[in-house]
Amino acid sequence: MVFAFFKRLFGGSPAEAAGAPAAAAPAASSGPKLRTYKGSELGIHREQISQAAIRTCEILQRAGFKAYVVGGGVRDSLLGLTPKDFDVATDATPEQVQASFRRARIIGRRFKIVHVMFGRETIETSTFRALQNDAETDEHGRVLRDNVFGTQQEDALRRDFTVNALYYDPIADQVQDWLGGVADLKARTLRMIGDPATRYREDPVRMLRTVRFAAKLDFHVDPATLAPIAELAELLENVPSARLFDEMLKLLESGHALACVRRLRAEGLHHGVLPLLDVIVEQPDGERFIEVALANTDARVRAGKSVSPGFLFATLLWQLVSVRWRARQAAGEHSIPALMEAMDSVLDEQASKLAIQRRYIADMRDIWGLQPRLEKGGRGAARALEHLRFRAGYDFLLLRVEAGELPEELGRWWTEFVDGDSGTREQLLDARPGDARPAATKRRRRRRSGARKGAGEGDAAGDAGGEGGGDGGDGGTVGREPDDDPRWREIPGQGGGSPRDRDPPA
Ligand code: ATP
Ligand code: MG
Repeated sequence: MVFAFFKRLFGGSPAEAAGAPAAAAPAASSGPKLRTYKGSELGIHREQISQAAIRTCEILQRAGFKAYVVGGGVRDSLLGLTPKDFDVATDATPEQVQASFRRARIIGRRFKIVHVMFGRETIETSTFRALQNDAETDEHGRVLRDNVFGTQQEDALRRDFTVNALYYDPIADQVQDWLGGVADLKARTLRMIGDPATRYREDPVRMLRTVRFAAKLDFHVDPATLAPIAELAELLENVPSARLFDEMLKLLESGHALACVRRLRAEGLHHGVLPLLDVIVEQPDGERFIEVALANTDARVRAGKSVSPGFLFATLLWQLVSVRWRARQAAGEHSIPALMEAMDSVLDEQASKLAIQRRYIADMRDIWGLQPRLEKGGRGAARALEHLRFRAGYDFLLLRVEAGELPEELGRWWTEFVDGDSGTREQLLDARPGDARPAATKRRRRRRSGARKGAGEGDAAGDAGGEGGGDGGDGGTVGREPDDDPRWREIPGQGGGSPRDRDPPA
């Protein structure tokens, strides 16, 4: 089989070559030729590579196997970036890898990889594998099984981009390049290995990877790599939703989410690539909020902080909720039920499409559900503090302040309240509700029964109403504050789901 593969690759007739894994564009005529470089001359040094990855390679090599650092670990090190993680590729079988280490675990049933553990670090170690010509695919060409071991050359060819197919041997200080990845790296070009359309059909997720890497690395996308995406983007619909969700999270948690979204927009790819991206870039009035939210996420990621998917999705879908909340209040619904209904309708529509998992949906409900209470501040604040997701709700409120949806003084009040000792908190409570003009605000609200908003009033709750935050709703809730509304108590409480929770997407 390997022989046939090489015959096709190096000397086979065009007819024979049809259906074979195509060689990389720069090497298309002659098949992949190995070029080797001294690592240190390219600017990659052992010190940049994790000790655990080096140890993994050393131990496998000593046992007589080939072993290289591959993928993002090499690419990012060569670019002077800090890699997210290090993967190792080897010609040892998973069982042989496992037998070589004290702490190693085989993962996966269909295609096995090995997690080799050193202290707290885990090195994902995979056996060279090959693209199969006769691989089982769905009707669109998506490869359903991808589990045949192969040679190192075959392993290079089955990878996605030339810059992701570099093999670094930290012991020999050598970079091995079969597909022109070093040249592409120098030219800052992202180039799909093989025929891009075929590779996207095999695995549509590669389209998202194109966008993610282009944004993360600030690379130019080779025109042939870019061209098929607009036409093939709809194939993403056939990808199992859990995988799509994972890849989407990678994009959003890449530390370059804003750049990714801007890139999609600039290249006209924001339609249909991912339902979530349509939501993100097409929100009515929501651009500012989304930009602030994504910039905030990127800053957190770059500072090494965690990002909770529930929070992230709550921000991404907020404008939809907010617009519907406002509309319902304008139609005379009470604030809290209006918010509940808006949340329900958005989640019904989006959650299964986006494959958002149930546990994240519970977080989203909590974060959104806290907003009216947080907008009010005042006496309800002390109770809100006890909410399990108060912190997330408060962070969310601060994003809304930053996006100009709510007055800055409201954010300041909360920050002082959160940071303050009990004496400070009492003082702040006296200064609120309604902060600057507490009594007037309340009176005005009730008098105005049904009036939608009091633009420019300057009080936090009133301004909040301007964007759907409660003023209009309070107007509708004549004589009854949202906290007294029985519906409020239905808001998912301490960590559990709410009775209104929908089933998780399939
Ligand atoms: P990062 O981890 O920084 O996001 P990475 O390049 O390491 O980037 P991974 O998802 O960790 O990306 O994958 C490791 C390597 O596996 C890639 O560099 C690529 O060579 C290969 N790879 C991953 N996903 C695919 C895919 N869908 N098709 C082909 N090759 C892939
Ligand atoms: Mg990686």
